Amino acid sequence: MDRHQTTHSASGDPRLVLRRIRALLDEAPHLAPRYEAAKKVIRIFRKPAFYEVTQRCNLKCEGCYYFEGNFQPVTEQSSIAAWEAFFAAEKERGVSMAYFVGAEPSLEQERLVAASRTFAYGNVGTNGTVKIDPVVPYRIAISMWAGDDDTDRKLRGASVFRKAFRNYRGDPRVLVYFTLSRWNLGTVRTIAEMCRDNGLPLTFNLYSPTLTYLAKLREGEANDDQFFRVSRPDDTPMFSDDDLLAARRTVLDLMDEFPDTVVYSKAYNEWSTRPAPLHEIDENGVAPRCGSRITGHMNYYGSDLKLAHPKCCTPDLDCSQCRIMSGGWSTKLQPDATDLASAADFSNWLDILEALEHIFVYEKTAPAVNAPVADAVFAL
Ligand code: SF4
Ligand code: SF4
Repeated sequence: MDRHQTTHSASGDPRLVLRRIRALLDEAPHLAPRYEAAKKVIRIFRKPAFYEVTQRCNLKCEGCYYFEGNFQPVTEQSSIAAWEAFFAAEKERGVSMAYFVGAEPSLEQERLVAASRTFAYGNVGTNGTVKIDPVVPYRIAISMWAGDDDTDRKLRGASVFRKAFRNYRGDPRVLVYFTLSRWNLGTVRTIAEMCRDNGLPLTFNLYSPTLTYLAKLREGEANDDQFFRVSRPDDTPMFSDDDLLAARRTVLDLMDEFPDTVVYSKAYNEWSTRPAPLHEIDENGVAPRCGSRITGHMNYYGSDLKLAHPKCCTPDLDCSQCRIMSGGWSTKLQPDATDLASAADFSNWLDILEALEHIFVYEKTAPAVNAPVADAVFAL
């Protein structure tokens, strides 16, 4: 994994947004320092790029985001010198945030090491089963899908969550993100306790179905031994509206109970678990304004180091049911009308940006970002 652990900024009308923000700051000047801090965060995301480190993975997650749908195998670049030269050129191109995605990047660590002296900020999305070399100075985002063996096996094909804690206890690069689903809400408290006891922060993702997975359900396809092993039309990890509210409550409880461990935003929790589709959907069933869309200056490269043009970093997901953290947080990098409706809404948006920074920005080696505000703001 994991292409769903990314965020980057969307575009918008800078002048209108800035005018509205100025009016809100006139009304609530105490929010100004938080707004200045939010602008610094957004500057970090001004030019993201995505690198598929490998097409290999060692798990079989139910409804996998990567291998299902229009998966196109490529011949991976095997020369580490070529990866080094490629990353050096990307640095020259001005990439401000590098996302190392997969399948599973930890299976090709020399490629991660090749990038380790390159970018100011980076994020590696991993399933946590293989420890990533400490020289890689980036956020390590570990996906977890369950806090008990049976549910982990059911959802991922193997019980792996304990191994991730053994690999990364106390590692300051690491953030655990738990993919909440209908099948695992009762197990997440165990993960919160384990994160607390192992010194790792915890955040959340929401299970989102792929188009392939939905088609298999719809057509009553038989289960297989790959990414459709255990689901049935009447029993899936997908959320109903009631399940979403249960997920919202679970997260709120954990935020209150584990305030030093959970990194999240109550405002984001409320927004991301609302029953309606999170994103506006166009006539093609795609979310045109989702912040995760690979458009404009955002480049995406396969493990052959060639430019690719997917819809987003999880292209087989159904936009109309998508609550994945990448699409959610990246969309919130730019405030929409509801975020700017009142000073209270603006304060909530700032709360989201504060959580976003803690989730995605690992500061160990990163220098200050001094992009001009006009570049970074709306695009923020
Ligand atoms: S099987 Fe799981 S860990 Fe591997 S690429 Fe798919 S979703 Fe990611
Ligand atoms: S809403 Fe659509 S474009 Fe956005 S992350 Fe989800 S699947 Fe990708």
